[in-house]
This record gives sequence, structure tokens and C-alpha cells, in this order.
Amino acid sequence: MRDLPITLDPFSATEVLLLLRNVRRSWCLNPTFKMKRKLSSIQRPFLLHISGAYRTTPTAALQTILSIPPLHMQLQFEARFTSIYRLRIPLPPFITDTQPHDLEMKATGWSTHPSEHLKPNQISFEDGEAYIARKDIINIFTDGSKTEHGVGTAFCVLTNDIWAYQWSAKLNDNNTVFQAELTALHEAVIYASHLPNHNTSKIHVDNRASIMESSNSKSTNETARKIFKILLSNPRIKVSWVKVHAGNIGIERADQLAKDATQHGQPYSHTKLPKPHIKGLLRKRMLREWQTSWKNGDIGRKIYNIMPSVSLHPTNWIREDVIFFSQHGPFPAYLKRFHLSDSDYCSCGGIGTARHYATQCIYTVSWHMRKPAPNFEQEWLKRVANNLVSRQKIRGIIKFISENRDLFRPP
Ligand SMILES: [Zn+2]
Repeated sequence: MRDLPITLDPFSATEVLLLLRNVRRSWCLNPTFKMKRKLSSIQRPFLLHISGAYRTTPTAALQTILSIPPLHMQLQFEARFTSIYRLRIPLPPFITDTQPHDLEMKATGWSTHPSEHLKPNQISFEDGEAYIARKDIINIFTDGSKTEHGVGTAFCVLTNDIWAYQWSAKLNDNNTVFQAELTALHEAVIYASHLPNHNTSKIHVDNRASIMESSNSKSTNETARKIFKILLSNPRIKVSWVKVHAGNIGIERADQLAKDATQHGQPYSHTKLPKPHIKGLLRKRMLREWQTSWKNGDIGRKIYNIMPSVSLHPTNWIREDVIFFSQHGPFPAYLKRFHLSDSDYCSCGGIGTARHYATQCIYTVSWHMRKPAPNFEQEWLKRVANNLVSRQKIRGIIKFISENRDLFRPP
């Protein structure tokens, strides 16, 4: 039960629709002060509702407690992503040095005519096809690897029991292992397509996903499309899945080459950065901006002293915690401050602050904790917030006061 009922502020539906339509336009990249205020007022009722906080609780504090960034920052994040990733418009250097052409694009439309298919025997998902030491077959093994050192990609070529060729490279640290697998397969099909025409080559891949993607004519992955086109025009190149198991010397060698390349490989820049990378960068940027505004703000300082850092990971605060630490709650001192009562005295005779109930009031003795030393109230609050036993006591106090309001009213 709430003493101060929270209702969603009445804002007109038209206004919201206009806002949402404008989100697609670029003003969200640089919202004006007025815009930020408007968005904040739209977000506020939801924050109050989710947290169950008193409606006087500052918005900035609620955002931090709930790990929900200010709405204008969320929209700015989306607008920035749309700009660089979809519209291919560069962002200012202070936001990111990453350029649109550094990013992997989603290919659209048909890569080839729908009636064009790979030969049925070109792709095989049957494991156990160990390479055959036949003179006319060239076996190629590919692998991609991602370790703490970086991302490596490699293939090696076995003909007549002789290692005939090998290739490896180091990708950008932000590339994925899937991109490394696809790059290895791409380089391998290019190599195979340049071999004399009478040769049949068999490419052994231990990554199912990259074979699936490359044999799919509707793939939106640009590298997979390139592989598909080469396979289509070179039916003598076959791709076969092979289970990773000890004993396959080809797979083991490709694996070792790719692992070595994560550290010492030649840099390879043809593989673009994946979508999650730019999302991650922009999210970090948003967090930094949110952190700065939380740090430099002048409201919600009681919460700031306990939670100086913003985060996107939810905190474990419940309604009672928010009420106690924001000190916006059923305390006589609060009610007086917001002109909801004439007196800030508790019925016991003390000043009815949150601290009074946690350490002094005769009605809440069973939840009392040690008083803060003079001038150490901030430290004390921080300790209380970080201690589970104290947090349980606080929750008990707030519930008790809320349920027995008459008891605390000054005579
Ligand atoms: Zn009292």
C-alpha cells in the first residue's frame, strides 16, 4: 500500500507518437535540453512505478538504482547505431574512431539466381570422411581460433601425404571466431579455385555453421556469399564437415596454425568488424556519458554517496531499500520537508529521520543497529547498504512504519 499514490503522468498520445516518429530522424543524436527534459518526464512515471519509490524521489537516483539509463541516452544510443551501421554515416571522432566501412554489412537481396544451386555432392555434413590419400585429390583443412591473444585464421593443404601449402593470418581482436572460420574457408576456396582444372579439392571444416552459411544462397553474410559464388562456379571444390577429434592430422595442423596466428600472424584487414562490436562500443560510450552526468549532477546525492557508479546490471534493491536510502518515505522529517505535515517530530519525541528509526526510536528497537559516529553518517549509510543483515533490518523498519503510520504521528 502506498501512502502517496503514483499515477502515470497524463501526457498526450499524440506527443508520444510524434516523439517516436522523430526517433528515426537524427535529432536524437544531439537532443536539446528541452528534449532531454521532455524525455525524462516521460520516463519518470515508469521508473517510479517499477521501483515503488515515493514520487518525490529524484529521477537520476531512480535510473541508477534500477540500472536504466536516461531515456535520451538510450535514444541517442539507438540513433548513433542507426547512423553508423544502417545509414553508413560516420559518427564524430569523440564518439568513436570506427568508420562505417570498418563494419560488416548485411547483404540484401539474392546473391545468385534462385535457380542456381550447388552440386549435391559439393557439401557434406557426414562426419568420418577422413581424407583420402589419392593423387588427384587435394585436401585442404581450415580453422579459426580466438584466444586471449587474439583471433587467428588458417588453412593448410595436403597432397600425396605432403604439406603443399599453408596460409594463416591474424584478424582484428574484435572479430569473432565465426568470422575467423569463414575467413579461413573463403581463403581456402580462393586457393582451390586457382588450382589446375583437373584437380578435385576437398576442404575439411570442423565448423558446421560456416558450411551452412556458405552453402545457403540466401545468406546475408557477405563473406559467406563470396564463398557460395566461388563454389557455384567451381563444382570440383567440395566442402566437408569433419568432427573435431584427435588423430586427424589435417585438422590438428590447421588448429595449430590458427592458434599461432592469434599471436604472430600477418594482420588481415579484409574481415570487417561485427555488429555486436559497434553496439558494445556505443554502449560503453553511453555508460560513460551517463556516469559523467550522475557524477556531476546535483540531485539524488544521497543515493550517489551510496552508489557512485552507474551500471547496466540490475542492483538487488527493493522498494524498502529505495525508501530508506533516498530518505523519501513515511518519515516525519520527510513529510515536513515536503509540506505534507506540520511537524518533523516522531511520536517518541525525537526527530523522525530515517536514521532515527534505524538507531534510536523506541518503537523500532528490534531492528536497531549501531549509531554512526558523528560526521560519519555517509560512511555508515554505505556500510549499511552493503551489509545484508543491516539491509534486512531496514526492510523490517520501513514495512513496520508503513503499516503503522498512526503510531508515528506526532501527538
Ligand atoms: Zn521515534
